[in-house]
Amino acid sequence: MPSPSGQVPSSVVVVGAGLAGAQTSAALRKHGFEGHLTVLGAEGLPPYDRPPLSKELLKRTEPVWLADDLGIDLTALADDLRLADPATRLEVDQERVVVRTASGDDVVADAVVLATGSAPLRPAGWDAAMTLHTAPDAERLRAAVVPGMRLVVVGAGWIGAEVAGVAAGAGARVTVVEAGPVPLERQLGHKLGGLLAPWYDDAGVTLVTGVAVEKVLPGPAGGVPGGGSVVLADSRVLEADLVLAAVGARPATGWLAGSLPLEGTGGLRVNRAGRFMGMHSPTDPAGRLHLDALRRIWAVGDIATREHPVFGPVPGGHWSAALHDPEITVRALLGLDERAAEPEHVRERLGLAPIHAHAPYVFSQQLGHDLALFGVPSPFDDVVLRGTPASGGWGALYLENALDRHPRRTPDGHRVATVRAMLLVDSPREVGQVRKLMNRGVPLEVDLDRALDPTVKLKDAVV
Ligand SMILES: Cc1cc2nc3c(=O)[nH]c(=O)nc-3n(C[C@H](O)[C@H](O)[C@H](O)COP(=O)(O)OP(=O)(O)OC[C@H]3O[C@@H](n4cnc5c(N)ncnc54)[C@H](O)[C@@H]3O)c2cc1C
Repeated sequence: MPSPSGQVPSSVVVVGAGLAGAQTSAALRKHGFEGHLTVLGAEGLPPYDRPPLSKELLKRTEPVWLADDLGIDLTALADDLRLADPATRLEVDQERVVVRTASGDDVVADAVVLATGSAPLRPAGWDAAMTLHTAPDAERLRAAVVPGMRLVVVGAGWIGAEVAGVAAGAGARVTVVEAGPVPLERQLGHKLGGLLAPWYDDAGVTLVTGVAVEKVLPGPAGGVPGGGSVVLADSRVLEADLVLAAVGARPATGWLAGSLPLEGTGGLRVNRAGRFMGMHSPTDPAGRLHLDALRRIWAVGDIATREHPVFGPVPGGHWSAALHDPEITVRALLGLDERAAEPEHVRERLGLAPIHAHAPYVFSQQLGHDLALFGVPSPFDDVVLRGTPASGGWGALYLENALDRHPRRTPDGHRVATVRAMLLVDSPREVGQVRKLMNRGVPLEVDLDRALDPTVKLKDAVV
């Protein structure tokens, strides 16, 4: 067990009552943790699932509670459950962790699992814009989206595109403003983003690209609450009954500033098992944290930038990571998996069983299309299509070493390529197969000629 004394901790505090916090609590009990479990939340609500907030904004008037969906009942799992008493400060030393809460209490435990997720960005001067992150946000947005209302969405990312499509489908007049040249450029790259741009027009959404929003002013006079004027950098002004800022999120770690070294993005760098790696961070305040103290700190879900055996450090923001990683973290925390952070080849040499490593995975339903993205695209990847947008279902492979002039070849002379990420569009039948390939925990190498032929199963193109 990773606690300094080599003992299983007798008390754990989980900070954050979202998906990752709930999964952590469930895994602790599932794996026999009988000690004292405290769970702190900030929303005053039991855990619920966020993806339906945008995708099923109008269809679901109630959150998808994790108690119903995953059978996780925090009231039964935790000895001390405080859903509306957020953590405000963390102190860790060699002996214990102390979490100060908003009500002024100090929760003392042997270990802490940080699972406070992320918080949506709202740039300064955009006070009149709302964001979509919580169930009450969705409720407010749902009430405002009626036929004919004017919705301006700032940001053509995952959430912006999803809401735009749903609102337009309900008869709202929707404009999406995107500072980049194409939608989802940061997430999928320029080439792919360009292929997605026509979806907006098809769905009856006006897409304005290549211009930044300067500010969002309240109003117009007499408009509904939340109405505003969106002032663009080129001086255009878009009047709206509601403005949604969908420009990304950052790890919700403001309360940890000064306690732990954070990444530039605010994330917490953790190893494969989810244990905090503060000593490796250039921002660690001079190694203030003793190794024995570090061993008490774990992080899961959106808050964590987690080491992956194939993809390296992967920032949070993936629902699937919040779903799956707590299991690995809890097993390591309880000492069930020895040396859980070691690479697989080392574990194999030590005779230890492999630890499953899920590839980063994002799914989206937007503007009438289904997307599934596995892996981590990089701007340096070579992007090649499998099938074409005109053919209905299609995909894109993000290949490493695009500049490699002497790639490895198969005996038939076909190029062997390493797939860093794969996007599937409207291809539900390929999702399971690609998930399996990307989740193997080793780089995916394919015969490129075969991989790009949509009549060949991707698994048959693996070399
Ligand atoms: C509208 C929307 C749609 C999404 N769609 C997708 C999708 O299609 N695919 C996908 O992969 N991902 C999607 N995501 C992201 C996905 O929901 C997250 O990756 C996932 O919820 C992360 O789980 P988490 O437990 O780490 O964080 P969260 O679900 O954010 O839970 C963290 C909890 O911690 C609480 N908290 C914060 N600060 C404190 C504190 N100081 N003390 C105590 N508690 C605190 C928060 O209030 C929150 O309840 C979407 C997110 C949103 C908002």
